[in-house]
This record gives sequence, structure tokens and C-alpha cells, in this order.
Amino acid sequence: MPRPITATISVDALTHNLEVVRKHVQQAAITASAAQGRPLAAPSIWAVIKANAYGHGIEQAVRGFWQAQGLAMLDLNEAVRCREAGWGGPIMLLEGFFEPADVEVLERYHLTTSVHHADQLAILAENRGSRRLDVFMKLNSGMNRLGFAPDAYRAAYQQALRLRDDGILNNVGKMTHFANADGPQGIAAQMEVFNRITEGLPGPVSVSNSAATLRYPDISLARDDHGAWVRPGVCLYGGSPFADADAASFGLRPAMTLASRLIAVQQVKAGDAIGYGSLFNADRPLRVGVVACGYADGYPRHAGTGTPVTVAGVRTRLLGRVSMDMLAVDLTPVPMAGVGAPVVLWGEGGPTVDEVAQAAETIGYELMCALAPRVPVHGRDV
Ligand SMILES: *Cc1c(COP(=O)(O)O)cnc(C)c1O
Repeated sequence: MPRPITATISVDALTHNLEVVRKHVQQAAITASAAQGRPLAAPSIWAVIKANAYGHGIEQAVRGFWQAQGLAMLDLNEAVRCREAGWGGPIMLLEGFFEPADVEVLERYHLTTSVHHADQLAILAENRGSRRLDVFMKLNSGMNRLGFAPDAYRAAYQQALRLRDDGILNNVGKMTHFANADGPQGIAAQMEVFNRITEGLPGPVSVSNSAATLRYPDISLARDDHGAWVRPGVCLYGGSPFADADAASFGLRPAMTLASRLIAVQQVKAGDAIGYGSLFNADRPLRVGVVACGYADGYPRHAGTGTPVTVAGVRTRLLGRVSMDMLAVDLTPVPMAGVGAPVVLWGEGGPTVDEVAQAAETIGYELMCALAPRVPVHGRDV
């Protein structure tokens, strides 16, 4: 028998979460249209499936997000896997392409690319391929990661429009990415730059990640004849982009459940220590469960005593230091639990991935993406 640890991906939860986001932006469109007395359309949704769909698996994501208008990712191989899984809709490469040879792949698989650097534009200008490419020109509006600087953006955009007129490009759009959509600083300063720099430039707009889509749906409503796209990622997997609001408060469901079993039980006395470094010392006799899950499975080693974990449906706490392959839990609230008892580390029937992440001083994104390859992943439809 293999180790009892598994990650189960609910395709139904992915579909449900996409629907939650769609309703959220549609409601914003209805409210804003009524308030402004003119029709404003809800944005299209790029479901972001980078990093193997945040650890959930590309094939599961393609099925779960079948109703999205597009899929967005970074890796050309992942894009090709989407095509091989039958996805015929738009695919957006968020980091663009990396070398001239990639352009042929963009053409062959009909991939939309972001263009964030003058070198990419030069490569496109040299391209004499058979298919006109769709691009989004990326503005660095203040995050200082990817994108043309504000004073270079309009000239780059005009160059892209000329490549369109020359038959090399097809649709040309505008995009940027927010650094603080989840926090107190918000998006105002970056939106001011984006609006000022892109003023009057034709083409669709794409600006919002999960936090901005949930918090500021109004900024992505399509005006005039410009289409708009949002780019939610983490919320589609049932993770929260916010430190102060959980995913359930938006009606989102966890798509990944990391589960295992107790493989041993220890009875310890007052004064006994548990695990490496003897970080936890029992102040009374305790039953301690040993779970087949450790940091080599992707469970965060920095999660300490008190991190929530569910045993046989009852919430309890982690004890001491997480080992490579095992961790210890307090069985006081579940006196009947013995070897073989089911354990949920995060997901359905357990703590949220965000709770575990918080205990480890990180974010749910990191835990989902860091699920180790040795953990078998099972998709299920409900
Ligand atoms: C990762 C990413 C997103 C999605 O971010 P979430 O916070 O997971 O919603 C959107 N846009 C870009 C450019 C990204 O890199």
C-alpha cells in the first residue's frame, strides 16, 4: 500500500468558484449600468492556471474552467498541454515569450502573448510567420516587475499598432498588474498611471488579479467598444487573496484537499517532548497522533504547535516540529481516533489552506503551488 497521503482536486469546486467570480462581476455591471444610465458589460475572465494551475493540475483546471472565456499562464508547455486537453479558446501568456523560436509556437497553438519589453516587440517585427498574433502590451504602472515604463509605453503601443497594420499582429490590448490590490494602499495610484498613459489608445483592457476583481469589480467593466478581461487566479482555487477576509465569505469553496491518516499513536507523560528539537513539551499526559505528512509533501515546516488540523472530522492542533515525512497532532479532542483515522491537513472537512499558511507566516498560494510531486493527485468531479 502506498503512503496514505493524497491531494484531491474537486473539479466541481473549480467550476463553482469561476461561477462565483462571474456573478460578482456581472452584479457589478448591473449596478453600475443602473447608476450611470448606460450599459456597461461585465469583463471576460482569463482563469489563471500558471504553476500547474496553482498545484491543482492543468488537466483538472481545463475541465473546471471550461466555461471561462480564456486561460492564462506562463509556460509554453502548459499552454500546449491545454490545447492537447482540448481547449480551443484563448490562451494568454502572462510573461510573454522568451526567444525568437517561441514565436512559431505562439502561431502554431494560437496563443495570445503579453509584450512587456522592447526586445519582444523587435522579435515580433522580424516575424514573417503565417498567423497574425494577438498581444497585450504591458505597462509598468508602479509594481516595477514587468512592463514598459510609462514614458516608453505609448511609443511601443503605436509600434504594435503599426505591426497590426502591416499584417503581423491581430488584436492589440493594454494590461498592467497591481502590487497592492489586497492591502490598504489599494490600486488608486497605479490606476491613475494606467488611465493617464493608455488614454485614447484603442483595444481591450486587462488589469485585475483576484484581489482587484473581488474588491474593485467596477474598474474592469467594459466601456465603449473596448473589451475588458480580468485575471483571477487564487480565488478560483478557493484561496483568499486577503489577509483579513476568508474565501468562504465570498462563497468560494476549496478545490484542493490534502488528506492523510494516522500511522501511529503515542501516549506521552507530563514532561515528555515530541519531535525534532523537542520543541513541544507536554504539561500533562497526552495521546499524540503521528500523521503521514511532512515538509517533503509540501506541508510547511514553519507551521508550529497550534496549527489547525482535522482528525476524524474533529479540529485539533499540530504539536512540535514538522518532520520531512511526518507530523504530530494532539488527540485530546478525539480520544477514539487510532491508527488509520483520517486526517485533513487543509481543504474540505479541514482547516483552510490560508489558515495553515498564516500559521507558517506565508500565504495559501505558496502552499498550493508547493504541493510536492510525490503526493498523488486525484481529480474528482464533485
Ligand atoms: C498570478 C497573476 C495573476 C493572478 O493573481 P491572483 O492573485 O492569483 O489572482 C494575474 N495576473 C498576473 C500578471 C499574474 O502574474
